[in-house]
Amino acid sequence: MTAPQQAVTVLGLGQMGSALAAALLDRGHPTTVWNRTPGKAGPLAERGARAAATPREAIAASPLVIACVLDHEALHTVVDPAADTLRGRTLVNLTSGSPEQAREAAAWAASREADYLDGAIMTTPPGVGDPAMMVLYSGAEKVFETHRPALAALGDPLHLGADPGLASLYDAALLGLMWSTMTGWLHGTALVGAEGTPAAAFTPVALRWLTAVAGFLTRYAPQVDEGRYPGDDATVDVQIAAVDHLLHAAAARGVDNALPGLLKAVMEKASAAGHGQDSYAALIEVLRPASRT
Ligand code: NAP
Repeated sequence: MTAPQQAVTVLGLGQMGSALAAALLDRGHPTTVWNRTPGKAGPLAERGARAAATPREAIAASPLVIACVLDHEALHTVVDPAADTLRGRTLVNLTSGSPEQAREAAAWAASREADYLDGAIMTTPPGVGDPAMMVLYSGAEKVFETHRPALAALGDPLHLGADPGLASLYDAALLGLMWSTMTGWLHGTALVGAEGTPAAAFTPVALRWLTAVAGFLTRYAPQVDEGRYPGDDATVDVQIAAVDHLLHAAAARGVDNALPGLLKAVMEKASAAGHGQDSYAALIEVLRPASRT
């Protein structure tokens, strides 16, 4: 005999909310759904979801309520009128927002005697339910552990700590990393493409390089934490000379140079601050708030 799966409610059936509800149904969770525009519940109802007529009815159906709407303003529009129904339940907010909004929502939930976790889904809707994909959570560990089995239906659940703002903070940091990486890849693709190499040929080489880059991050993390940057592999001044080769090659082929120009500016700032003979990790000294340097 296996234990019955936890009943879950999903508020918001946009692209992401629909994927979350579908993943819960795939794992056999009794799933109640609600969306402002009712038609979006149809395909999920055909797969066994119960479509509630109001947020209050949806919240009352499950001890675990997952919200995924456009933003925090929409979240409050949905949950505020039904706040009394949340008492004694857990609200897991997977709506994107700032750390400050997450902390404010956690305080709001606490004042309604509801448990609260904030979360960030680190994939797009097709990746929801894949255990290789991370979903970040922050808030009370006990609440997270209670609901971990149900949350595992959405992707690999990673608890970051008790401060409810942490998931949003990591989300912002990781999206910055993603945009920098993807724009760097596209810049490189434009550069080799100027001489006829297709993206599909460049990308496997780029992916092998990213494995090496991942090793650099692992090597530099303790340097950042210790505030010591021995330049015994490649110095900032050597990187400044190398970025000039990139700027030259790209300019000669008409490729936009805004990104490497920005990177060079940060390297030069670090060099001017006395870090020319340090490792690349020393750039943290010009990136983080002055009070930390
Ligand atoms: P979406 O497809 O545009 O869906 C937006 C949802 O919010 C819909 O259910 C919409 O209801 C609802 N909504 C908007 N304003 C509302 C209001 N005032 N009152 C009630 N409901 C309202 O967006 P999505 O891609 O699902 O994204 C939802 C959240 O997930 C966002 O915070 C997004 O940042 C986050 N997220 C998305 C992805 C992704 O890849 N898509 C990845 C990570 C995180 P209607 O159907 O009635 O318009």
